Amino acid sequence: MDSEITVVGAGVVGSSLACLLSKQGIKVTLLDRGSPLSLSKSSILQDRTLALNLSSINLFKELNIWHELKKQTTPFKRMFVWDSKGSSPLEFLAEEIKKKELGYIISNNTILKSLNKLIQDSPKITLKQQTELSGIDIKENEICISFLGGERISSKLIIGADGINSTLRKKAKIKTRTWSYDQRAFVAGLKTEKFHDYTAWQLFTPTGPIALLPFDLMEGSNISLVWSAEIDYAEKLQKLTQKEFVKELEEKTEQILGKIDLKTDIRSFPLNQLHAKSYFSERIALVGDSAHSFHPLAGQGLNIGLSDVTSLSAVLIKARRSGLDIGSKRTLKDYERSRKIPNLTMAALMELFKEGFETSDPWVKLARNFAFNMATKNSTLKKRVIKEAAGIT
Ligand SMILES: Cc1cc2nc3c(=O)[nH]c(=O)nc-3n(C[C@H](O)[C@H](O)[C@H](O)COP(=O)(O)OP(=O)(O)OC[C@H]3O[C@@H](n4cnc5c(N)ncnc54)[C@H](O)[C@@H]3O)c2cc1C
Repeated sequence: MDSEITVVGAGVVGSSLACLLSKQGIKVTLLDRGSPLSLSKSSILQDRTLALNLSSINLFKELNIWHELKKQTTPFKRMFVWDSKGSSPLEFLAEEIKKKELGYIISNNTILKSLNKLIQDSPKITLKQQTELSGIDIKENEICISFLGGERISSKLIIGADGINSTLRKKAKIKTRTWSYDQRAFVAGLKTEKFHDYTAWQLFTPTGPIALLPFDLMEGSNISLVWSAEIDYAEKLQKLTQKEFVKELEEKTEQILGKIDLKTDIRSFPLNQLHAKSYFSERIALVGDSAHSFHPLAGQGLNIGLSDVTSLSAVLIKARRSGLDIGSKRTLKDYERSRKIPNLTMAALMELFKEGFETSDPWVKLARNFAFNMATKNSTLKKRVIKEAAGIT
């Protein structure tokens, strides 16, 4: 057998999993069709920015890279959620759950850079970038994976961390539930007139949610924008000049952070939601976006993927110590059991949140305001909501 486990997809989820497994002495092959781990200095801040919750931070502490990553983050201590109709705003403070921070904003590539160092230093990980998976062949005690160049490798288990359009999920014929939000997300680095005050600002408008996340590290900017826009409105935004785009944003955000300067290009992409009906099949398991993808409004997609990583590695290590087959359905069922309900609950909560804020139905708005007033007044319930968002369960 070439390696005990093959991980397909070397994004943050796949690379973190490979590092965690190798720490336990497991031989892992990590492959990617692109080169996400070969980063130039100038590309470090060019990709997505992400909000890391405390649970994801614990994983990076376990991998011993958090002390390095922390220097390249901006913390947020408060979340402020409001809507353009002037209904009850929501405020969540770290001090309400006796913490200094609720989470940290970081760029995706900063995490990949630190993981790459671990991967290069690990004798247990074989990294193959620019390697496209072409087929799988399941045998009684192993699974073989073949590549476009004709090479084959065998292992006991293949893990799909190959993102929302997962080839492995399709090859394993795992069905999904998908739905389009009919929205596009626009992301950019901004410099705002007013200080962000270490707050993650989230505004709901009838044309989609806007997040202004504190991030001081991109040159000249202090805010990372994630603006999700209904498709018709998105088309209008795409036709605006940069100056008009900024003006529109200032108006939409009610200048809560004052005047805005655009500091990077504006990038945009379609938003889809996906949930795999099963997280495993014979000798195959799915983690991260290949199993589920979420709307970026709550900034939970990567955090949930990293919780999959923690659960799957715990299940595999326990099975291995007990002498069980790590690729068996029995082992993989334990992983699915640990993750599917929490992930589906989070998906449903986000839908509720989105619907509740974007609706023009006065009854739904009334019910939402009532629920939020209750949540704000009931300190136990509020603490529960903050802990959930911060990844403390
Ligand atoms: C605008 C936006 C903002 C977001 N903000 C947040 C946030 O604040 N907090 C948060 O937690 N999440 C956030 N998310 C979600 C988060 O970005 C994703 O959930 C996370 O990056 C998924 O990681 P992944 O490793 O599973 O997949 P990916 O990052 O997509 O990595 C998949 C890897 O698999 C490789 N691959 C694909 N197909 C193949 C193949 N056939 N063979 C080999 N390799 C293959 C790809 O090259 C890629 O490197 C946001 C998402 C968006 C769109």
